[in-house]
Amino acid sequence: MDTPHEANPQARGADDPGPHSPVLSAQFPSSVKPPDSDHGNVFNFWFPFDQAHMREEKGGWAREVTVKDLAIAKEIAGVNMRLKAGAIRELHWHLPAEWSYMLYGSARITGIDTEGRDFVADVGVGDLWYFPAGIPHSIQGLEPDGCEFLLAFDDGGFSEYDTFQVVDWMAHTPRPVLAKNFAVAEDAFARMPTSELYIFPGHAPPPLGEPVQGTVPHPFSFRLAGRPPDYALPGGEVRIADSRNFKASITIAAALVTLRPGALRELHWHPHADEWQYWIEGQGRMTVFAAHSQARTSDFHPGDVGYVPRSMGHYVENTGTSDLRYLELFRADRYAEISLARWLAHTPPELVAEHLKVDAAFLDALPGGPRPVVPG
Ligand code: MN
Ligand code: MN
Repeated sequence: MDTPHEANPQARGADDPGPHSPVLSAQFPSSVKPPDSDHGNVFNFWFPFDQAHMREEKGGWAREVTVKDLAIAKEIAGVNMRLKAGAIRELHWHLPAEWSYMLYGSARITGIDTEGRDFVADVGVGDLWYFPAGIPHSIQGLEPDGCEFLLAFDDGGFSEYDTFQVVDWMAHTPRPVLAKNFAVAEDAFARMPTSELYIFPGHAPPPLGEPVQGTVPHPFSFRLAGRPPDYALPGGEVRIADSRNFKASITIAAALVTLRPGALRELHWHPHADEWQYWIEGQGRMTVFAAHSQARTSDFHPGDVGYVPRSMGHYVENTGTSDLRYLELFRADRYAEISLARWLAHTPPELVAEHLKVDAAFLDALPGGPRPVVPG
């Protein structure tokens, strides 16, 4: 391979004649040959679902990325799940709140709130759902080919396998107590399974009259990808879902970002929460600035999780030849950011010039308003 190392003996680094995976090396150029601006020993902020253990069940599968896999990801844990048509994620509830983005196919979700108000909805690709902490719910794959989705919990240490499940609970309650509770004879439970079902095959349910039904005051589902963008710019689009428009989602705020080839999600940070990313399509790189001269760049591909601790500066650049689409999630009731360019635009220009030694043309070009995406 014709590398700068061979061309110039004074260049930093050297080639890699020893053992390595050519497939992985080719996917991670920013690790193999980091930009000269990288420095220090910044924590790892990347983990791929492709490397997460697949829990296979009859009817589907699940895999998770928690702090056990990605130590820095303390505020949010993620799950990727597939349900075949008719297959059911057992009626359950859990300690953290659950946020979801539909990646493939269609699903029916159900839940009730603490006032006993009900909710049933069908969701498709690009739709969200949110179930508050402790609220019982279910998910079922619909015809023709079920669904695949991303789950995010507002606790990085939470495991999807530590949920409270309806059959599991009832199987571990004395039968006479069950009979008393439901005012039936004990033999009513003769055919009930004796352990959790988790994911199991079922029959696809009949069509819903309306795609969203029920009496909850704020629906637990939301159309994100299918709504007009909050920002439509030459370099791409941003769609935001938080408690201002998706009123049920009080602990998770989200941005769905689309970047054209070469475009940049501009230099910025988030003052209020860590950022948990899920990369949906395309490819790119991100550099995280961790203060005190420390910066690290990593490459990302579909199915990857990325993470940026609160207030650490970062950008995302589309390094591929097709659109890059990824999710930014925050454990917060609303989306918020500080843009480097906008900050400088709203700082006395002579003060900016004292720092950066830039000329008037730079200062005049600073954007006064929001400009989250810059074309390549
Ligand atoms: Mn759940
Ligand atoms: Mn960000």
